[in-house]
Amino acid sequence: MTILQWVVMVEKVFGRPSPAVRRGFSFFKTRYNRGMSQNQNTEVKHVRPSWDEYFIKIGRDVGERATCNRGSGGCVIVKDKRILVTGYVGAPAGVAHCDDVGHELHTVTQEDGTQSKHCIRTSHGEQNAIANAARKGVAIEGGTLYYFITPCYTCAKMIINAGIVRVVVEKDYHASKRSKEIFKEAGVELIILNPEVETYADMK
Ligand SMILES: [Zn+2]
Ligand SMILES: [Zn+2]
Repeated sequence: MTILQWVVMVEKVFGRPSPAVRRGFSFFKTRYNRGMSQNQNTEVKHVRPSWDEYFIKIGRDVGERATCNRGSGGCVIVKDKRILVTGYVGAPAGVAHCDDVGHELHTVTQEDGTQSKHCIRTSHGEQNAIANAARKGVAIEGGTLYYFITPCYTCAKMIINAGIVRVVVEKDYHASKRSKEIFKEAGVELIILNPEVETYADMK
């Protein structure tokens, strides 16, 4: 029974209420309706992430295990919307980590003459994910690789030869020119969700 039906029934039984009672009822009805519409407006509808957003988010959690803070990323390799393997930035298993003994920095001169510093103690998240697949005999051919930045040149070469067909990253990497070129040449689709370039300390 609605409030209106209830009022009509009460009026039939007890007669029409006085104007003061009617005003009081009207006041509460307005408040009730306003409350209902506010509830409808403020109700937050759950929005499911897309598949790409979902795996990128999982990659962020994987990256929390990284042991070098110069690009502490996590990698997720997926096929048919199922996670096959993960990997994160770190020194080889059993070898001292950057977090404990510091970085192993090398200065690299780029093609255009600019120099940038790179930590070479670690293998990158993509390399470790591919190594993990080899270790456990998981076929990643035809898969999609998720990472937080565009893969470096070395990782890009490994990704191509591992048979990965699609790479989805959150941000761009400042030294990704050659990676982009060889992905295009080899027919690997590269999707950069946010064109912003990832930055970190002492990058150049
Ligand atoms: Zn390092
Ligand atoms: Zn790399």
